Amino acid sequence: MRYDTVIIGGGLSALMCGIEVARAGKKVALVATGHSSLHFSSCSFGLYNAKRALEAIAALGAEHPYSKIGEDNFEQLTSRATEILNIAGIATVGSAEQPHYIITPMGKWRECWLSMEGMLTSKDGVGVDFKSAAIVYPEGFLDFYTQFVVDHLQDMGVEVTTHAFALPELTVRRNNPTEMRSVSVARALDKEENIRALATIISRQVGSAEVVIMPAVLGFDAPDVRTRLERMVEREILTVPTLPPSVEGVKAERALKRAFESMGGTIFMAHTANSYAMEDGRVVSITTNKGVTLTAEDFVLASGSFIGGGLKGDGKRIDEALFGLDTVTPESGYTTRNIFEAQPFMSCGVVVDNTFKAVKNGVAIENLYACGAVLAGYNPVKEGCGAGVAMLSALKVADDIINR
Ligand SMILES: Cc1cc2nc3c(=O)[nH]c(=O)nc-3n(C[C@H](O)[C@H](O)[C@H](O)COP(=O)(O)OP(=O)(O)OC[C@H]3O[C@@H](n4cnc5c(N)ncnc54)[C@H](O)[C@@H]3O)c2cc1C
Repeated sequence: MRYDTVIIGGGLSALMCGIEVARAGKKVALVATGHSSLHFSSCSFGLYNAKRALEAIAALGAEHPYSKIGEDNFEQLTSRATEILNIAGIATVGSAEQPHYIITPMGKWRECWLSMEGMLTSKDGVGVDFKSAAIVYPEGFLDFYTQFVVDHLQDMGVEVTTHAFALPELTVRRNNPTEMRSVSVARALDKEENIRALATIISRQVGSAEVVIMPAVLGFDAPDVRTRLERMVEREILTVPTLPPSVEGVKAERALKRAFESMGGTIFMAHTANSYAMEDGRVVSITTNKGVTLTAEDFVLASGSFIGGGLKGDGKRIDEALFGLDTVTPESGYTTRNIFEAQPFMSCGVVVDNTFKAVKNGVAIENLYACGAVLAGYNPVKEGCGAGVAMLSALKVADDIINR
């Protein structure tokens, strides 16, 4: 099968790149082993841990993906990433110029670039726009730590009450702890009779609280569950990320896949690219574990890091799993003794040139790009820039492919 562009991966970077190249009129195929890190992500996207990301970027080393993207491109790529999320139906709040703060599942305010609409956010991490809140959560739900949220809001001077709710369908699920996870709770709350029952409970219990805060378990398949519930209880409902799996992350991945397919893209889901062919220094095809061979002009490696399966490590060295590309491996060990310090293995990954072309044996492969978490040169956890690097490097690669 022949395509203009073949992308290996099914996460944020593969989908961003795929949507952009497909909407420029190219025939694009995407090959994905399985679900992506979005399933774990709070879906509050980080650009960089700094008050003004753009200023911080000027000081980053040459190997940082943001340095390769370049300050001149940064602004338009951040707004294009937001535009693509919105085209996919993912409504976000926030901007690259003015970071805001969200509460993480571990109850810490974290600076971020874009959040899903309806999340509990703070403009400055010091205060919120309401004086009283009721936290409403499913009884027996283990992936949401109510007390963390209570503590942080009380520190901000908010009067907080907490309310566990039970619904017959959820009570049955509690018999099996693995069933009481965010996605199954969200599926139960998709049902009209359950939303109505929840609305009645909220209206009876929360008194005069200005806002209702819930774990992010509203609306899996059914649209607008949060806003419908808001109308029923006549007050704002804000959500806080849960521990994985993330309902918002799963929804975002599904929405991006739909957008990619609606632009003519093809997804080979549950296919693992496990071999490739090269001629004259160019990749000509990849073949999947199901025997499908895809040829193309350009290939994009967006296979993620260790979680995605793009990188493999044995404690001594780090390898790129498919093409055997050059990688950065930490010289003085994978980890440091202090768990709270930046861990060296997090900055490892594939070496690319200044246009994100992947390097093998010291030479950049002319038609093989790499983007997202498979890249070396940045620390997504310490720098809080995982989603930013995934989206912006993907769009930079897409531009290069489109404009060649
Ligand atoms: C647990 C966790 C939580 C995070 N939370 C946040 C957050 O809250 N905010 C934030 O800004 N960032 C967060 N990040 C970082 C950010 O989500 C990621 O950096 C970003 O989503 C990476 O996207 P990616 O597409 O590059 O890789 P991935 O999402 O890892 O996707 C890689 C894809 O490639 C596929 N693949 C791999 N090898 C092959 C192959 N050979 N053939 C076919 N397919 C293959 C995988 O199946 C997967 O679909 C988090 C990351 C993790 C791991």
